[in-house]
Amino acid sequence: MKEIIVQKYGGSSVGDIEKIKNVARRVIETKNKGFDVIVTVSAMGDTTDELIEKALMISQNPSSREMDMLLSTGEQVSVALLAMAIQSMGHDVVSLTGAQCGIITDSKHKKARINNIDTKRLQKELSEGRIIIVAGFQGINENQDITTLGRGGSDTTAVAIAAALGAAKCEIYTDVEGVYTADPRKVPSARLMKRISYDEMLELAELGAGVLHPRSVELARKFNVPLVVRSSFADSEGTEIVNMDQIERVAVRGISLDDDIAKVSVLEVPDRPGIAFKLFSMLSLNNINVDMIIQNVNRLSVNDISFTIKKDDMADFLKISETIKETIGAEKVTYDDSVAKLSIVGAGLAGSTEVMSKFFEALYELGINIQMISTSSIKISCIIDRDNAEKGMAKLHEKFQLG
Ligand code: ADP
Ligand code: ASP
Ligand code: MG
Repeated sequence: MKEIIVQKYGGSSVGDIEKIKNVARRVIETKNKGFDVIVTVSAMGDTTDELIEKALMISQNPSSREMDMLLSTGEQVSVALLAMAIQSMGHDVVSLTGAQCGIITDSKHKKARINNIDTKRLQKELSEGRIIIVAGFQGINENQDITTLGRGGSDTTAVAIAAALGAAKCEIYTDVEGVYTADPRKVPSARLMKRISYDEMLELAELGAGVLHPRSVELARKFNVPLVVRSSFADSEGTEIVNMDQIERVAVRGISLDDDIAKVSVLEVPDRPGIAFKLFSMLSLNNINVDMIIQNVNRLSVNDISFTIKKDDMADFLKISETIKETIGAEKVTYDDSVAKLSIVGAGLAGSTEVMSKFFEALYELGINIQMISTSSIKISCIIDRDNAEKGMAKLHEKFQLG
């Protein structure tokens, strides 16, 4: 049996017809090297954003099921066009939707998780010598409804297929040369990394480095999928994601910025057992994920609880905020979407107060106030005012000499 290579091309890599032809040539090159090739593609250019805009022109709060029906069409356009390009170059190819290639997800529309991939169709097409083009970012739930995997989810489609078929490699082709020490569009001195560990990459991705969908890194780590990120426009080697024991441990590997978050404060809640339980179970029932949590133990048996959520979840949160207030007896629920989360990540920073103080010193030198802090063994994150975020990011990059 031939070795399988899974390749994924992002929206900017299939942004127009010339670029689609360029991808077709690369795919054929890989096939000609003797591999079985499965390709996942995203919607062309800004298609997904444009579809969301159209939906919002009709309703401020469209149902998640219909959003998934709409957004999944973007990827369907690009798989068909790429398949046609490959056909016109004389190769046998088939394009498949998520459902057609057996990607079964749960029912959490707009952020579904893949439960299983029934690989029968994929295996049949490969055995007949075809190149397969799979629509990224989508699957189907047990009711046959189309689901999507969350923004950037095509990376996860690629890794999940690679894991399910035991592929030799999963290559993520994008519009930068690989993974950098910080977003190269925001920090021009950012340095391309040859290698980074799964753990550090997962943390950077979860903390806002848009280059990989977090779930794709999680799956790659779990199923030991060799993963590489590289440019679809150049021929460089890119960045390999590897196990921690294959690289040198450093205190700070990279910096992430997430400005897609909002801070919610539930003010003056009674200070007694069960309040946090009630609050977070209501959020859980409504599929709202929470990141940082702070409880200010304060005045006369009342507390304030603040936490951060994704901006995408803000509309769902607002629907239940009044119920939350009443159920737990809070005085007020406020939210602030002018914040951002700035983080440093490195497997060697575990508990180092030296690293922490350097981080806080950098923000202090810029006069940036810290609203929330959280740490884990491989990251430190601060919530700060969004207007200061990029300045802070550049300063941290310089302070930790990552350039
Ligand atoms: P694609 O459409 O190919 O999936 P994305 O826009 O999702 O591309 O991801 C690539 C982008 O991720 C880059 O253009 C870059 O601006 C951004 N990015 C953020 N953090 C990083 C990082 N640490 N390294 C590389 N790129 C990053
Ligand atoms: N098209 C989807 C998005 O823009 C999925 C992806 O590109 O990975 O988020
Ligand atoms: Mg992406």
